[in-house]
Amino acid sequence: MKKVVPILLPAIFIVALSCKQPKQETDGRQEVVAVEHAKEVDAIFPQGQKGSPKTFTGNAYNYGLVMMDSTYTTLVGNVYFEPGARSNWHIHPAGQILIITDGEGFHQIEGQPKEILKKGSVVKCPPNTKHWHGASPDKGMQQLYIVPNTEKGVVEWMEAVTDEQYNGN
Ligand code: MN
Repeated sequence: MKKVVPILLPAIFIVALSCKQPKQETDGRQEVVAVEHAKEVDAIFPQGQKGSPKTFTGNAYNYGLVMMDSTYTTLVGNVYFEPGARSNWHIHPAGQILIITDGEGFHQIEGQPKEILKKGSVVKCPPNTKHWHGASPDKGMQQLYIVPNTEKGVVEWMEAVTDEQYNGN
């Protein structure tokens, strides 16, 4: 029985920590905790490498899952967009499929209204169609991307999405 105690104590301590409620001493502090919580997004995969400012506004991170090859001709990966982060405008010669695994964000095809994305959203970006995708201003977004038929090309990058475009309809 005595041997159990050293194991149990840290376990209880960890449980106690994870159950800790936000401090309610000051209103300001509580607000900060609430905002930070809203930005939390669950990650399935490692965060990966930060995207280039030449192709992304804000902080976006790419983690490759399936490299393209001649057998599968498909590229699969995960992008985590911090709140406010988004891709530049771009096209995929053979199209792209997005699967949102957490958070909130947008997908917009040029000339069309922004589409709101949430956990569970599945989006087909048609071939050779100018579009962008990214996180909402207040909450990040986790997206899985699938690029099929990579022998036709993967992506052609274009200009950044302006704040006016990002905040527009
Ligand atoms: Mn795309």
